[in-house]
Amino acid sequence: MRAMARTATEVADRTHILNYRYLNQNIGVIVGRDEVAVIDTRSSGGQAREILHDVASLTHLPVRIVIDTHGHSDHAFGNAVFRPATIWGHARCPAFLARTGESQRADTMRELPDEADDIGSLALLPPDRLVDGRVTIDVGGRAVELVHLGRGHTDHDLVIGVPDAGAVFAGDLVVKSDSPYFGDSYPLDFPATVAAIGGLDWTALVTGHGGVADREYLALHEARLRMLADVATRAHEAGSSWRDAIPDVPLPKQSASDGLRRAFAQLNGDL
Ligand SMILES: [Zn+2]
Repeated sequence: MRAMARTATEVADRTHILNYRYLNQNIGVIVGRDEVAVIDTRSSGGQAREILHDVASLTHLPVRIVIDTHGHSDHAFGNAVFRPATIWGHARCPAFLARTGESQRADTMRELPDEADDIGSLALLPPDRLVDGRVTIDVGGRAVELVHLGRGHTDHDLVIGVPDAGAVFAGDLVVKSDSPYFGDSYPLDFPATVAAIGGLDWTALVTGHGGVADREYLALHEARLRMLADVATRAHEAGSSWRDAIPDVPLPKQSASDGLRRAFAQLNGDL
């Protein structure tokens, strides 16, 4: 399954995305004066080494900084390959990886049987530099902002801003996908967190999956999240089960049921 990035695009000044066919995933590359930061590390050791290979086609500078937008396998399983780079993530990311890492590993091995040995032997390395609210880090002379805007796709999503280039990396808070993943989400908080991305200063918004978004897409995405939260809230108030509300959510069944189940858990005070 060796595949170079399908595309490498400079979305803003010295700010690139590597787009990979598997999961239509976007990996961020921020090039500073003497070092590089990579955003997210993909699902296997082999895939992480592809990132390093593709970065080398953009710049000869070393990757000294990794930023995990969150702890899902496709965003953090490649971390160890980037050592001795510093690995940044949200303060709740290590606990999430400790809690879910082995079940995510099993799922990913099933999903990628050709890479099962690779994934089976990965050291699942959590971020070691942690962010709670907001922090500005230096990437070779460039200020890069790591911000937690609230719960959404997970309880520990980081948004990464590159102010001198007008770019923001949203992780999986924003995806250009017809079937967003809600399995670890907080659907009641999700719309406001996504709306807060709209309040940041950017011209290019990089999604976790599916390419670059504009403000029009962000509004559509926020609206479908708001619809999910509203359907769940009304069904909960009416005393229905979340399963009965699935047909009322215009999303694929898996997304709708994960989202409604998580929303009901929030409404019941279980999350
Ligand atoms: Zn995710």
